[in-house]
Amino acid sequence: MVERSWRNWAGNHHAFPAHRAEPSSMDELRAILRDAVDRSRSVRCVGAGHSFTPIAVTDGVQISLDSLQEIESVVHEDDGSARVTVLAGTRLRDLTARLWDLGLAMTNLGDIDEQSIAGAISTGTHGTGARFGGIATQVNALELMAADGELVQCSREENTELFDAARIGLGALGVITRVTLECVPRFALRAVEEPSTLQGTLAELDETVADVDHFEFYWFPHTDRVLTKRNTRLPGDAVLKPLGKVRSYIDDELLSNTVFEGLNRMVTRIPALIPRVNAVSARALSAREYTDRSYRVFASSRTVRFVEMEYAVPVAQIGWVLREVDRWLKRSSMSIAFPVEVRFAAADDIWLSTAYGRPTAYIAVHQYHRRDHREYFDAVEAICRSVGGRPHWGKLHSLGGDELRDTYEHFDDFLRVRDSMDPKKLFGSDYVERLLS
Ligand SMILES: Cc1cc2nc3c(=O)[nH]c(=O)nc-3n(C[C@H](O)[C@H](O)[C@H](O)COP(=O)(O)OP(=O)(O)OC[C@H]3O[C@@H](n4cnc5c(N)ncnc54)[C@H](O)[C@@H]3O)c2cc1C
Repeated sequence: MVERSWRNWAGNHHAFPAHRAEPSSMDELRAILRDAVDRSRSVRCVGAGHSFTPIAVTDGVQISLDSLQEIESVVHEDDGSARVTVLAGTRLRDLTARLWDLGLAMTNLGDIDEQSIAGAISTGTHGTGARFGGIATQVNALELMAADGELVQCSREENTELFDAARIGLGALGVITRVTLECVPRFALRAVEEPSTLQGTLAELDETVADVDHFEFYWFPHTDRVLTKRNTRLPGDAVLKPLGKVRSYIDDELLSNTVFEGLNRMVTRIPALIPRVNAVSARALSAREYTDRSYRVFASSRTVRFVEMEYAVPVAQIGWVLREVDRWLKRSSMSIAFPVEVRFAAADDIWLSTAYGRPTAYIAVHQYHRRDHREYFDAVEAICRSVGGRPHWGKLHSLGGDELRDTYEHFDDFLRVRDSMDPKKLFGSDYVERLLS
């Protein structure tokens, strides 16, 4: 029996669908869609519920593919890469560990691995690295079940427009049932994390981003301090030197999660403490270096609840954007305890990708779930919008179809493909219509 009420990871969106379903076969899935059509109910798929927006919310039928998780086939190429087809509900956490055992890896990942593969690609989940695209760029082919129950295949060779639209399809084109990924030979990452200054990091940004495989940094608002993270790719048989269990527990579980939760509770009561707390936190971070399997370095656990907004801006603008955010914070009365995360991605060709057609920098801002985020997010959004920023599809923002159309040259092509796949908007919702109006 599937529980009817639902909430997302951040707890900022709830749903009470008429029906929640978890099919364990394609026939069951088809029957669920037909039943929804007969009862005039709309349908939304849900993965791990890790989007911060109501993108998976519906009062109709909410479908989880949690019972459709499996690696179905692996086709090896001569160069050691492979095409790996998985059922769409497969969680990244399980997939990446199983790929390692097969001698394979996903070439880039975000900073958590809780998501389902279909959920991750549908909102354009990305990691960092100027030579690497988001997870959807690793997709080689997709299978979707359309509103009429038919299975449709698409790839660079077949149904190419559907492929361009569906790799980041917002759950609005059909149910993704199978995903074929282009996987690379497994590799390790050497992680070097060290404190630095914002001014120094920005001064050397172009070179660092070009030289380091996967570079990102966290800026502590109200200070000039940052924590930089440089991940360098090493062969899969490199000697691993993972963080010791104690160090990993102290740094990642205790300091990043438990102590951070306590700090957030305290500064929620006394926000005036935040600038001092940030300065102390930034200085308390010590440098560390370790080498581990790639997927273990890319992803970490997050137990402190927060809400997030993330904007993609042209990479050349990121320094200006950060300085403007700093200037705004100095003028405003807001105190922000969460570090601002800055990442990078290569340009890609997916119609609704935030990195479509341009090398991209991402700025992600967070707020503790018990604090009001609106004034802060609105201010950062306005700054990012002034340089043509595009919001992450799974994170908070205030844009509707009119503004989004201006930043995506294939927006109307996407709507055209949607009309042909789902003319009656079975896979619609109030929120999706706001985005795609
Ligand atoms: C703690 C945390 C850390 C995060 N880190 C990152 C990060 O590093 N980088 C980043 O880019 N994002 C990040 N995100 C955002 C997250 O990756 C995206 O919101 C992602 O879409 C969540 O995947 P999910 O499986 O939870 O999908 P859900 O949030 O459940 O759904 C997302 C979308 O996918 C659709 N969908 C799901 N399954 C299917 C299917 N089978 N067929 C069709 N559509 C489907 C849903 O309808 C919905 O539109 C993070 C989120 C959290 C909470």
